Amino acid sequence: MHDVVIVGAGPVGLLLACELGLSGCSVLVLEREAAPGSPWRTAPIGMRGLSAASLQVFYRRGMLGPLLTASGVPEVGVDSDEPAGPSFAGHFGGMVLDPANIDPAALPYRLPTPTPEFMMTSLEIVETVLSARAAKLGVEIRYGVTVSAVTQDDRSAIAHAGSHGYPARWVVGCDGGRSAVRGLAGFEFVGTEPQFTGYTMLATLADPEQLRPGFNLTPTGMYIRMRAEGHIGMMDFDGGAFDRSQQPTREHLQDVLRRVSGADVTITEVHLASSFTDRAMQSTTYRNGRVLLAGDAAHIHSPLGGQGLNSGIGDAMNLGWKLAAVVCGDAPDGLIDTYTRERHPVAARVLDWSRAQVEIMRPDPHAQAIQGVIRDLLTTRDGTTYVFGRVTGSSIRYDLGGEHPLIGRDAPDLRLADGTRLGDLMQDGRGVVLDFSDRSLHAPALGWESRVHYVSGSARNDLGLSAVLVRPDGIVAWASDDAPDRAEFERAVGQWFGSSAL
Ligand SMILES: Cc1cc2nc3c(=O)[nH]c(=O)nc-3n(C[C@H](O)[C@H](O)[C@H](O)COP(=O)(O)OP(=O)(O)OC[C@H]3O[C@@H](n4cnc5c(N)ncnc54)[C@H](O)[C@@H]3O)c2cc1C
Repeated sequence: MHDVVIVGAGPVGLLLACELGLSGCSVLVLEREAAPGSPWRTAPIGMRGLSAASLQVFYRRGMLGPLLTASGVPEVGVDSDEPAGPSFAGHFGGMVLDPANIDPAALPYRLPTPTPEFMMTSLEIVETVLSARAAKLGVEIRYGVTVSAVTQDDRSAIAHAGSHGYPARWVVGCDGGRSAVRGLAGFEFVGTEPQFTGYTMLATLADPEQLRPGFNLTPTGMYIRMRAEGHIGMMDFDGGAFDRSQQPTREHLQDVLRRVSGADVTITEVHLASSFTDRAMQSTTYRNGRVLLAGDAAHIHSPLGGQGLNSGIGDAMNLGWKLAAVVCGDAPDGLIDTYTRERHPVAARVLDWSRAQVEIMRPDPHAQAIQGVIRDLLTTRDGTTYVFGRVTGSSIRYDLGGEHPLIGRDAPDLRLADGTRLGDLMQDGRGVVLDFSDRSLHAPALGWESRVHYVSGSARNDLGLSAVLVRPDGIVAWASDDAPDRAEFERAVGQWFGSSAL
């Protein structure tokens, strides 16, 4: 029996497998596809935007170099004491933000770090980098296995594929938006029905110059002419009426493109095309007994704002170390319940963000009026900075209690005077204590050294902090600006790394 069986070798399943493998858990990943690298996952149609927070994950686990190299993105210089500003700040309902309008003072806990603020790469590259690491960590991936049933009792869960059962102490459904595990394990999936049908296609156009490059919000919907020739995205406000069990035909795609662009453009050949909607649904909980959900299996929404993969990466990081601590360590079962508690509200906000964008894009006078107001607000510094924080996820803060404003946020890449960065210290998957206060929090007295890496020294830039405790997922569990209160610190260490009930 494995410790954990993960259903789905998409980016979320693979990252979760890596996190569990890093802690020494035995992990089996079951994937429906016969082999990796389907055309849907390769460039250009498989291109996805990764946020700064997601890129930090790759950096903190030593995978940034391979990801940047494979994606053809240069490394970021880190010699400055000021973080580099983003070159692309995202969009809201097709209205592109001006990066120069972001107010750095409103984002106080940012430090230079080797990761770009944002980058495009393909699902295939992400999965290749993660699979290579998973293999090194002893994770087994079986392709061509479609999970069709899930059973569980209070000691184990079994993923069934045909007549074969794969038993484990826990099963995690990372099997995407149409998750089989979700339904089979009895999760409730609730939310709102679609207003539009979206399409992504790779096509040859007779007259592509009729379409403007980039995001184009029009009175009838939106189209995006991507950088790669013939790669087009469209949103058609048909109430989600298109029958998605059908492959969209050339004629249909051309009709939609003409309608949303208002241009008399001609598609001569369609190479690849698929449809999606803005259906926004979420599991009411991410745990049912010994079965868990992560990524698109737990929440779906329109790709507006490109947050699905980034949310899933956040899920995998949040769940990985907790599940490992329970399965392969002596952490209490309740640690796993903090996964739903922390991640469910994050996805709920993303779903609402998607709904808000859909609402202002609708082709009716009321929606267009709100769109005009939002467009004005986006020309302001506050408006741009607010949207930037939502799009990039940098405004995410878990409610972990504690007074310091950094608690519950993703940790800045603090740097010691000797040049060591926080991200460098996180590669083994342990928590980190950075003590800039003259070793007053020295670890041996704590008894949790095997789970927490203790580092003291002066900082190159301490952002006014005297000490900080960072969880394995990069989230600040405790922080202090003044002489650290040792009792408070030990409480936080005990809460996240101890073996007593939470
Ligand atoms: C057009 C478009 C553009 C997007 N752009 C962005 C973007 O820029 N940024 C962003 O963050 N997100 C974006 N997204 C969303 C992103 O692609 C998804 O959120 C992400 O792929 C989810 O990853 P996942 O691992 O949860 O699921 P998936 O990528 O769907 O992987 C699930 C895996 O499970 C396997 N599987 C399914 N059922 C079974 C079964 N029964 N048994 C075994 N295996 C199974 C599948 O074959 C697949 O390999 C976009 C989505 C679309 C449609």
